[in-house]
Amino acid sequence: MNTYSYGRQSIDKSDIKAVTKALTSSLLTQGPLVAEFEKQLADYTTAKYAVVVSNGTAALHLVMLALGLSSKDVGITSPITFMASANCLQYVGSGVSFADIDPATALIDPQQIQAKITSKTKVIIPVHYAGQSADMKKIHSLAKAHHLYVVEDAAHAIGSKYLDAKVGSCKYSDATIFSFHPVKTITTAEGGAITTNNRDLYQKLIQLRNHGISRDQSSFQYSSGANAGPWYHEMQSLGFNYRLPDVLAALGISQLRKIDNYIAKRQKIVDAYRRALSSDDRFTLLKEESYSQAAFHLFPILLNIDRLNMTKTEIFFALAKKGIKLQVHYIPVHTQPYYRKLGFKPGDFPFAQDYYLRTFSLPLYPSLTQSDVRAIIKIIKKTIH
Ligand SMILES: *Cc1c(COP(=O)(O)O)cnc(C)c1O
Repeated sequence: MNTYSYGRQSIDKSDIKAVTKALTSSLLTQGPLVAEFEKQLADYTTAKYAVVVSNGTAALHLVMLALGLSSKDVGITSPITFMASANCLQYVGSGVSFADIDPATALIDPQQIQAKITSKTKVIIPVHYAGQSADMKKIHSLAKAHHLYVVEDAAHAIGSKYLDAKVGSCKYSDATIFSFHPVKTITTAEGGAITTNNRDLYQKLIQLRNHGISRDQSSFQYSSGANAGPWYHEMQSLGFNYRLPDVLAALGISQLRKIDNYIAKRQKIVDAYRRALSSDDRFTLLKEESYSQAAFHLFPILLNIDRLNMTKTEIFFALAKKGIKLQVHYIPVHTQPYYRKLGFKPGDFPFAQDYYLRTFSLPLYPSLTQSDVRAIIKIIKKTIH
């Protein structure tokens, strides 16, 4: 029996060769491949600057630090996301606020954001769920009107487009973050990146990624006297070790070369699912907005529970027996015990809660063949009733 998970990496000989070469070079970390990967990410997303880091969560954390978020501030994100989109605010002592989703797209709803803005709000973190961009023009204009930062969580959306711009171009935001976890569109095993067009933010990110250390002589404060020498460097802020090693940057460069092919394969699978499931009244598919050209990371579908005789739990067990290991994206973040302790309740965001009760994600990754996809569709149609 073939078994399918919701996502997995694609690694080929060229990736192995690139990593092997990096492993046998003199610098396993802090070498030239990091800068090369960053240049290619900036070119690909059309942003001015890219900073690669150890994972997507670190990317979110560093952006919050670099923007100066503090305990006086609050950020707004979607409840239907991976928890890191909210946790990054707590890391810097800021408050978390959620804005409910648009039930048609599962994307954060700009009107719901507007209703949540207060004098303490400092940043909006829209999530490009499943690969589809949030409505950035609307979010950007809200941010401008209220003097807020916008940080795009594009962990699902490398390669996607919003209107005529690549996600990550930061045309409507201060920064965008990506993740290169193995289930994402390209992988470095663990890894992440930030893109921005803001030079000051970029320099802060570079410093914070490496313990807050500066080696730029023009920035030194105490470089005379006993400190006059080539060894001298300064820790100017409290940073972290969030570096991506060269060995993994090598994998990233190799993966990025194949991204258009990965996306085309994902699109073909999505097209097949849509053809098979869009007119089946047991399911509802997410709406694709006309502004968006999504490079799909996930293919979540909604169960029309009131038309079914099985519960979602029964469906999961029945499909698992037939080799299809589904996943739910996501348990609404505000219902996690940590966030309940902060005062959130499941009913606070009714669209997110309804979405959670009905959604699961079908297998979607480039190495799925068309015959795999046909088999998955057949099992789903036969099993769910
Ligand atoms: C994967 C993911 C992250 C975090 O990325 P890691 O690299 O796993 O730390 C953040 N936000 C979203 C929406 C994600 O899916």
